[in-house]
Amino acid sequence: MEVRRQPMPRVPPGFARIRLLAGGICSTDLELQRGYYGFRGTPGHEFVGEVTAAEDPGWIGKRVAGEINLACGACEWCQRDLGRHCPHRTVLGIVKHPGAFREFLTLPVRNLHIVPSSIPDEHAVFIEPAAAACEILDQVRILAGAPIAVVGDGKLGLLIAQVLRARGARVHLYGRHREKLRLVEGEAVTTEVIGKKLPERAWPMVVDATGSPEGLRAAIAMCEPRGTVIMKSTVHGLVKLDTAPAIVNETTLIGSRCGRFEPAIRLLASGRVRVGRLISDEFPLSRAPEAFKMAATRGVLKVLLR
Ligand SMILES: [Zn+2]
Ligand SMILES: [Zn+2]
Repeated sequence: MEVRRQPMPRVPPGFARIRLLAGGICSTDLELQRGYYGFRGTPGHEFVGEVTAAEDPGWIGKRVAGEINLACGACEWCQRDLGRHCPHRTVLGIVKHPGAFREFLTLPVRNLHIVPSSIPDEHAVFIEPAAAACEILDQVRILAGAPIAVVGDGKLGLLIAQVLRARGARVHLYGRHREKLRLVEGEAVTTEVIGKKLPERAWPMVVDATGSPEGLRAAIAMCEPRGTVIMKSTVHGLVKLDTAPAIVNETTLIGSRCGRFEPAIRLLASGRVRVGRLISDEFPLSRAPEAFKMAATRGVLKVLLR
């Protein structure tokens, strides 16, 4: 990890140039550093910025967050409004498109969402990960009062717990850090420090947000027969898994990644998902290597770059 001088990025047709206001270091960025996707280049996909160049002058000066998948716009997936699965896509700071941890980044204008003024910069960097949490709501039906276990009290687990609560679920969050669990404890979210053993066959729906290979195994074991496990951890490397418990218990496994920004912006603007307490520290871009070190430290939540 090092800081480099780069030429000002050019703005292809349909793109905007955006001046970074704030970015958030995500566990995926740390995984990329470990070799996930064989990544080299500028990382960063959680950001808020100000548009400084675009064909439509109406965008100039707007404060925006941006969807991270750069889709072709023409294929069958794009036609179905699922550019997040476009086979030709590149991904901001992850696959073949320079990321957001630079003074100026580029994204297609169609990826941009205007950030309401009620969401300050340091909260707006959570729009992208909150959208990833909201993706669960697009994938499974959650009835009011439905009991759901979330495993993992990292940044994503804490967001998921809040998003599911906002949808009306009764959330039980398992984690290893009492002080992190406390951040979301309260009405409709109960928490538990993981002891020697997690319960088995205990929950109809379990979300794995541990970021570890053991998390998925535990989530499957925790799930009731005919239950659903939502897989939210991106882990670099192979996950060794005995599939027999999932088959015998007829568990539904659902992979879950990026989501739509609209519901995430609504939840942050309404204050129903609160992210201020998830920020551990912030650094200027010029001190990014330090910021990454801090973000990789055990117990640290979100580290911001300005
Ligand atoms: Zn991320
Ligand atoms: Zn496409």
